[in-house]
Amino acid sequence: MPRTSVKTKKYLDFNSLRQGFSDLLETIADHRVPGRCIHSLHDAFMSGFACMFFQDPSLAHFQKRLEEKENTSNLRTLFKVTTIPKDTQLRDVIDQTDSQVLRPVFKDYFERLRRGKQVESFQFMPGQYLCAIDGVYYFTSENVNCKQCLSKKHKNNSTTYHHATLQGTFMHPEKRQVIPTMPEPIANTDGAAKQDCEINAAKRYIKKLTADHPKLGITIVGDGLFSKAPMIEYVLSHNMNYLFVAKLNDHQYMMDWIEAYDTLPQVTVSDSKGRKHRYTYINQVPLTGQKDAPLVNYVHYALINEKGRVTYKNSWVTHLELNHNTVAQIAKGARCRWKIENECFNTLKNQGYHLEHNFGHGKKHLSHNMYLLTLLAFFFHQIFELTDPAYQLCRRSLGSKRLLWETFRVLIRYFIFATWNDVMLKLMSGRGGIPLLEKTA
Ligand SMILES: [Zn+2]
Repeated sequence: MPRTSVKTKKYLDFNSLRQGFSDLLETIADHRVPGRCIHSLHDAFMSGFACMFFQDPSLAHFQKRLEEKENTSNLRTLFKVTTIPKDTQLRDVIDQTDSQVLRPVFKDYFERLRRGKQVESFQFMPGQYLCAIDGVYYFTSENVNCKQCLSKKHKNNSTTYHHATLQGTFMHPEKRQVIPTMPEPIANTDGAAKQDCEINAAKRYIKKLTADHPKLGITIVGDGLFSKAPMIEYVLSHNMNYLFVAKLNDHQYMMDWIEAYDTLPQVTVSDSKGRKHRYTYINQVPLTGQKDAPLVNYVHYALINEKGRVTYKNSWVTHLELNHNTVAQIAKGARCRWKIENECFNTLKNQGYHLEHNFGHGKKHLSHNMYLLTLLAFFFHQIFELTDPAYQLCRRSLGSKRLLWETFRVLIRYFIFATWNDVMLKLMSGRGGIPLLEKTA
């Protein structure tokens, strides 16, 4: 069982995290007409969040039934919801609220992890933290759309509408868990002549990330879309490092420059499976032929199997200095970018979080706010995995995450719990009932 100090526990149990979110929701100005609102903004957001936390779109409905029968429910006891809104009421309130008001909660949880020394373990080089960025599409429709929707016109004259966001996530090559940050919507705004795009959203994201974490050494990790001079200069001007994929076809000038060298520094590491990891690198090469082109450090990585065949290769440009001691670790950092796809987006889409489930599109902010509540629930679960021994015990005991949450959902449908710890205790004490559940699953 991982060691946890009293301090860590104090900051990172469910109740203190939930309280932090409640406190933030209480500060958000409610612009609705007083007297006509049955449900508070807090109750609407917290009910929506609880659905995502338990990965159950019909949670509010079931808890409302419990409330009618028992005069209380888990939404009241665990999430401090005073009155449970109906789906349409919940969507109305959430649709009207600007997504940016939720930003402080992401910073707050990051700070709690930092104080609990959890962030420190994400350091991939002295003083450097990897933050991988990528765009994610979480809503697509041929008909439903709003002013913020991105649109794509097809040759047959039909149009597809999308909602997307630029997500940034702190990660470490050796860790499964990731620390999500507040994303930046890729969305159209009133009066803009051109559609919003991933690059512009990334710039806004980086600016806000620096403001949130001014003293943190951050290396932005991204795909080939970002390894262009304006983006590189933008990252550097915000005192961050970068580690971007550099595809051969996108950087012909730089590649010609590199190929002009007779030999380049190289490091080869053999692993226990008999494979070779070969790193070829060079510092300070011009990215383009332009007069003021940024000078970048270039690394090429090749994975060679025991038969001598290259089974994987990739190359990146970075501002971090490459040498015999750093090159392998930097390439490892670059390679762990897949985690944002796998551990973050794939989990949100396919591991029970219903990211693409249609909770409704809304007219203003519903779509992005629902994405944020989903991400926040994922954040809670990541924090539990990083810091909470009781949760880790439950997870180990049930084997799979899917089964664990299935069991939590069954429990809260039939029993009312005073605390989240009681839910976990019940799960552990009722392990005799689990084989039955496995049979029917
Ligand atoms: Zn829309």
